[in-house]
Amino acid sequence: MKKKYVANSKYSIPYNGDINNTIEILNSNLSNYVSEIYFAGNPIYIPSGRRPKVKYHIVNNSGAFKFDYIKYDEDLELLITICKNIKINSNLLLNFFGNLTKSNINYIGKLIELGVNIVTIGDTTMLPVIKKQFGYKVKIQNSIFIKINSSRDYIDFQNNGMQIILVHPDYNHSHSILNDICNHVLNRDIEFKIMLNEGCLIECPFRTNEQLTAQVYSIKDSINDFVNNPNEIRPLTQSCRKILNEEGMSISNFIHPNNLTHYDEYGFTYKIVGRSFSSINIVKTLKAYIKGDFQGDFRSIVENFKHSYSPVNRQNSFRTNFIIGE
Ligand SMILES: [Zn+2]
Repeated sequence: MKKKYVANSKYSIPYNGDINNTIEILNSNLSNYVSEIYFAGNPIYIPSGRRPKVKYHIVNNSGAFKFDYIKYDEDLELLITICKNIKINSNLLLNFFGNLTKSNINYIGKLIELGVNIVTIGDTTMLPVIKKQFGYKVKIQNSIFIKINSSRDYIDFQNNGMQIILVHPDYNHSHSILNDICNHVLNRDIEFKIMLNEGCLIECPFRTNEQLTAQVYSIKDSINDFVNNPNEIRPLTQSCRKILNEEGMSISNFIHPNNLTHYDEYGFTYKIVGRSFSSINIVKTLKAYIKGDFQGDFRSIVENFKHSYSPVNRQNSFRTNFIIGE
């Protein structure tokens, strides 16, 4: 493959709602590796396409648990401002299907005024809207809900205003396709991202459907989860976990930290999944990929493995030990 890119890895990391931990990362040496932080907006104003991630903003008012949306706004404002000041990209996720309402657009505009400079869209109908309203201020990226399959389509999306493309994780292990991506768009100004640690099946038949189902969960559901189901045991993606149990985790799309050197020459930005990770695990995951080495329990660094009830230690183990069924 032709080498256009310099192997200088930059990481896009999630904001899990824990503002103190995120500031700690940005104040540490790790920030040298972080090019971007991504987050959803306040779920009161705009959906994110997932369960509302509000656990760091649930307060206990004499036994009544509530979402402190004002503090959520304050923390998000602080995060965006810090990112702007230290020149780290802040990426607002609109990972949902459907049209943007007028109030959605107003809210997005507010965050862009604060410093959001990338908007990720989950629906192609958002592309002309964001481009028209904010295209002069932000770069537009696809979420994995928009699966872009060929170099022709990469170029077509770029011609329509998309400047950052998230490679679908189905292609994570297909180096011929990754090579093709780099060769065909060589002279075009597109940034590519690759998701490192989601851990679904390659060509998972359940992923999109289940992520869409997750859209119906409300803030109240997230509060109930926080109170009654703190370990987040749930049947979401259960079917693909069953297959992982039977066939082993080597069929997962996740990229092992020790294999990351095989990806460096592509020049991708590395996206770390984990808006629902604990802060400790976000740091652990980032360090594992920066170091290119991880020995230990994959539940702490791979999104889809975190629900296994016993440690997942060997990449090629044939059992992953997910609890199946309710
Ligand atoms: Zn799956």
